[in-house]
Amino acid sequence: MIVEVINTGTELLLGDILNTNFQYLSKALNQKGFDVLYQTTVGDNETRLREVLKIAIARADIIVTTGGLGPTRGDITKEMVASALDLPLELDQETLEKINQFFIHRGICMPENNVKQAMIPQGAHILKNDAGTAPGLAVEADDKLIILLPGPPNEMKHVCTEQMLPFLEEHFSQQGIIHSKVLRLKGIGESTVAEKLDDIIMSQTNPTIAIYARSGEIIIRITAKSIDYAMAEAMIAEMEAEVRKRLENNIYGVDNESLAKKLGEELLKRNSTISFAESCTGGLASSMLTDIPGSSEYLLGSVVSYSNEAKAKVINVSEDSLKKYGAVSEQVAREMAAGVRNLFNTTLGVGITGIAGPGGGSSEKPVGLVYMAIASEKGIVCQKHKFHGSRTDNKLRSVLAAFSLALDKLNEEF
Ligand code: AMP
Ligand code: MG
Repeated sequence: MIVEVINTGTELLLGDILNTNFQYLSKALNQKGFDVLYQTTVGDNETRLREVLKIAIARADIIVTTGGLGPTRGDITKEMVASALDLPLELDQETLEKINQFFIHRGICMPENNVKQAMIPQGAHILKNDAGTAPGLAVEADDKLIILLPGPPNEMKHVCTEQMLPFLEEHFSQQGIIHSKVLRLKGIGESTVAEKLDDIIMSQTNPTIAIYARSGEIIIRITAKSIDYAMAEAMIAEMEAEVRKRLENNIYGVDNESLAKKLGEELLKRNSTISFAESCTGGLASSMLTDIPGSSEYLLGSVVSYSNEAKAKVINVSEDSLKKYGAVSEQVAREMAAGVRNLFNTTLGVGITGIAGPGGGSSEKPVGLVYMAIASEKGIVCQKHKFHGSRTDNKLRSVLAAFSLALDKLNEEF
């Protein structure tokens, strides 16, 4: 199934609004095994939208549009789709009533032009929108399926997950289903993964396997097409076992599990606690871990020890070490880890110090150099990393590498 996404809205072309709808949609569709192969952004212009629809109908099986379902004259997506498929627009009483209720709930009279939102192409299936007034629509014609979603991101997301995805799954169930599983890896590079899986990649047909690198972690997606879910799962399990044989030690989670979530779970399982002394990451490690509900059980406290003074005064890094080795050094990372562990009396103490960039590097200590240390009662381990991204990227990678190291230490010692 080839999918094309068409995002409408002149504001997108002007660069005023970032096309977040596309990112959300393409991710959701790909996860369900629908191949999004084209994306077009087009302004609120009849001629050009007509043209874009014509091209999409010629090359895709499923077309998903966003935007242009509003009540104003500038909202033309539905009208253009109906015209492209030669379908008349008809008033849908039920939708009109829902829109009416939407306004009654808010204590206002429905403006006359909202009636436009209850006009639907003949035979269209309604994708209910409980987050707004314009419903989504699914229109079928000549083996093509066109889905229209509202533009406001909260409404688009709502209709996408609650209505469109279940509709697509049901609609295409006779043709078999497409199911994916994601394996998440740490502590290994993309090329090494590719090398280890080379024979599987070369001989893949169904399931297919794909490797992606995403800020500091590697993702393997296995996708199976089959007559039913159980069969697809079995096919995926077989390939997963092959992959695990080669990469078991690097796989930390599946599907939506994040490294932070995994670290939290492992800490909880062992009744262990953690604290961070963060320099170049500026609190990001603590922030990401506190994104996990229930993290107060194991994250007892952290220090953003950005200056030498903070390192010395708050977490007891020795002035001598700072002078002799510099703030970005293995020695200081170790002392930060030990110091913060002492301060909060945690099972693990983590110290992260490095040069996030873009400035501040030298030939001896280049941008992207980061030391991270983990202290426990059994001693301190330290890793040296050299990242090559932007400042934000280097911070994120540092955090993920620290989480990964903390996980290893937990697995080894507790
Ligand atoms: P529309 O239904 O086309 O009038 O869109 C309503 C509002 O939703 C726009 O003014 C934008 O603020 C937002 N919006 C529309 N399309 C997108 C998109 N592709 N990505 C992010 N926001 C969007
Ligand atoms: Mg618009």
